[in-house]
Amino acid sequence: MEYRSTRGGPPVTVEQAIMSGTAADGGLYVPCALPALSVADFTGCESFAEVAARFLRPFLAASSLEEPLAAICREALDFPIPLRPVESGLSVLELFHGPTAAFKDVGARFLAAAMSRILQDGRHARPPVTILVATSGDTGGAVAAAFHGRPGLRVVVLFPEGRVSPRQQHQLTCWGGNVTSLAVRGEFDDCQRLVKAAFASAALARSHRLCSANSINVGRLLPQAAYYARTSLDHFRQTGQRTSFVIPTGNLGNAFACIWARHVGLPIDRIVLATNANTTVEDYLATGQWLPRPTVATLASAMDVGNPSNMERLRNLCGDDAARVREEVNAVAVSDDEIRATIQDEYRRNGSVICPHTATGFFAYRRLPAVERAHRHWVVVATAHAAKFDTIVEPLLGATIKPPAELARLLRLPARFETIQPSLEELAAWLGDGTGHG
Ligand SMILES: *Cc1c(COP(=O)(O)O)cnc(C)c1O
Repeated sequence: MEYRSTRGGPPVTVEQAIMSGTAADGGLYVPCALPALSVADFTGCESFAEVAARFLRPFLAASSLEEPLAAICREALDFPIPLRPVESGLSVLELFHGPTAAFKDVGARFLAAAMSRILQDGRHARPPVTILVATSGDTGGAVAAAFHGRPGLRVVVLFPEGRVSPRQQHQLTCWGGNVTSLAVRGEFDDCQRLVKAAFASAALARSHRLCSANSINVGRLLPQAAYYARTSLDHFRQTGQRTSFVIPTGNLGNAFACIWARHVGLPIDRIVLATNANTTVEDYLATGQWLPRPTVATLASAMDVGNPSNMERLRNLCGDDAARVREEVNAVAVSDDEIRATIQDEYRRNGSVICPHTATGFFAYRRLPAVERAHRHWVVVATAHAAKFDTIVEPLLGATIKPPAELARLLRLPARFETIQPSLEELAAWLGDGTGHG
């Protein structure tokens, strides 16, 4: 399978697409042709890792990753992703049982396992490489966890100062070794802009062999499609009915993976995007105008994105036709007050303890017209464990939330980070001698 930029240009191999993250022309890599798979193609695939390997095989066909694919999936996707029934017609897909308690573990662990093999192979990139990553909170922790201690790979994480939860910040800054954490005086969009500027600087990108691990990397996007495949397959096998998803959305990486899964042929019905008060996507669906906005800080901070990158893939898939994009997805914007009320309501209603991001999904689900809810099988995607956002959720519930074991372990490690201005010069200085220290 070859990949091309959303902005045109020559095709590249999947190894090139994974190692470079973004295309040289600033576009995002997409497969030159989406493969087609049917439910029957998954016969015999039961576990998440098996479904993932089957789904991904055509995407990695004729690459150096095809042969080790099953092993990569077993290594990277080794934690449970349970579907928990909430009430009649509604289940929640819990994506937060990985090492850093957010769905980003899926993509980050697959990417780390794939990049390690690409580097060992030696034909496509030579170590050491620097993974430069901007995070709105959860990506950085997941990427740091997935790459920590891997030889030939250094990770530099940029996060917006004061805009991530205290526990998220701890997960970003507790690693040491090959991981450097930089707090940027700005917002997520500033971090993302800095990363883009670093990649655009040929000198920096070459001297540090920069690689991206952001959600724009196909190596992160593709494995995420596997949990939509698995969930929809399971339900279809039992009932013959397709599954509809409500997906808390920021940079659109998680949701776009679901859109790909549906295009490839998985039995997926509706896809509803739930956003916070950053309404760039809703506004586009309403007006047909793509107008990225400055970021608004919200309680669902990992979704504070005013310029969602993966929208470029969705618009590309739809020939830049807003009417066709509307056929793919609906979107619901959720305010902070609605997030707070939803966290309390769901707790009272079903005893569900949900994080602020997941709350946007529940809110959007409850807002669906009654007929929509009655006649479809709905799954709300839970993107993080509520314990990561204890300072928000605990006071609302008047209850303490026990962190999962791995999160509790990380929280006991010492943390260390440096603070920089949102300027390429400062970032370049930190990338400087290859360690970031001096
Ligand atoms: C990253 C993140 C999101 C948003 O996912 P995108 O792929 O950026 O749309 C939602 N919830 C949580 C908890 C996240 O970490």
